[in-house]
Amino acid sequence: MKIGILKEKNDNRVAYIPELIAKSKSEKTEFLVEKGAGANSYFSDMDYVESGAKILERAKVIAEADLLISIIPPEEEELTQLTNKVLVSSFQPFNNKYPLNALSASSIDAFSLDMIPRTTIAQSMDILSSMASIAGYKAVLKAAELLPRYFPMLTTAAGSIPPAKVLILGAGVAGLQAIATAKRLGSKVEAFDTRLAAKEEVMSLGAKFVEVEGAKDDKDAGGYAVEQSEEYKQKQKALIKEHIIKSDVVITTAQLRGKPAPTLITKEMVEGMRPGSVIIDLAASTGGNCELTKNKKLIKHGDIIIYGDSDLPNDMPMHASQLYSKNIANFLNTLLQEETYQPDFNNQIVRESCVAYQGKVLYGNPEEVEALTSAAS
Ligand code: NAD
Repeated sequence: MKIGILKEKNDNRVAYIPELIAKSKSEKTEFLVEKGAGANSYFSDMDYVESGAKILERAKVIAEADLLISIIPPEEEELTQLTNKVLVSSFQPFNNKYPLNALSASSIDAFSLDMIPRTTIAQSMDILSSMASIAGYKAVLKAAELLPRYFPMLTTAAGSIPPAKVLILGAGVAGLQAIATAKRLGSKVEAFDTRLAAKEEVMSLGAKFVEVEGAKDDKDAGGYAVEQSEEYKQKQKALIKEHIIKSDVVITTAQLRGKPAPTLITKEMVEGMRPGSVIIDLAASTGGNCELTKNKKLIKHGDIIIYGDSDLPNDMPMHASQLYSKNIANFLNTLLQEETYQPDFNNQIVRESCVAYQGKVLYGNPEEVEALTSAAS
């Protein structure tokens, strides 16, 4: 089998690093890598050659590979023309319509890493967690860089500095990493999440949990947050406002899968914050948790600094690529049987990540999935 690694067009990461190629290649598996694929994450073509891969132009990789790997799917025009057997990427089908439309026009089998179930067994393939963890870490570093004040408490001959107050909204993977990083920098950290399960995790990191009574039961939502009642949202708004206006830094990470991000910080709340305070909005790409956020922009609203960015792993491409590659390698171990492409639709990971199969779009088509599962039984 020939596995092709594409160079990302608008992303510094690479989907598979040389170290893993050296481990994964065999008599049956060869790696073809697009020229310059690792350059922005500091892996040179020479590193790839030394790992045993072949460096080729993009068109050649596409023409020769049986299985293609990329982080962001190729653009629509290229996607419709692919004649490879398999494409492993991250299609975000609930946000993005173009890849699925394009996939129905080709006969490629497409697997979307962001659709892998968030189960214990699939944890080693979970790109959402690996990337969210980097985003949480980087968000705190960005905040520390933008904040015109110290993070830690300091006692100096010139006077004492109190620790910065950091509020994290959304304590999922990114939020928990942000809590840990902000604690390491010496700040006082509080966090809020609608999922009550988050309370224990927040407290175990030494942060205070801001609790709103009356959250909806989310135990059947696969670990994701559920939309809350209007009454809860009003209570939440009032309590969060009290905490926001006392914070030097607010980092927001709250997402609702397949829906716009919930607005947690209004213009009025921003205007109540102290001058020089910083908001980092990791939900910027789905509308932002702060109503003033502009995606990929650093803005100032009065004296408040607001930075919206959902692509922070892109700013740490070396480790982001390393973790992403390992997630993909683990996924390939599940998808391939003895290094041969043989998808097992009885396997939940394969079934839920497969968004198109032999020209049929599976995402949103439970009957097609059912038919494949029955055929595999
Ligand atoms: P996410 O990116 O979907 O959302 C980030 C956080 O925002 C979540 O904790 C969510 O509850 C919270 N949120 C949503 N709406 C909110 C609101 N209005 N106010 C405040 N907070 C709000 O979450 P994620 O980091 O991808 O994690 C989702 C879930 O999956 C979590 O329960 C996590 O523990 C679980 N998970 C499981 C595994 C596994 O077992 N393999 C791996 C990773 C994550």
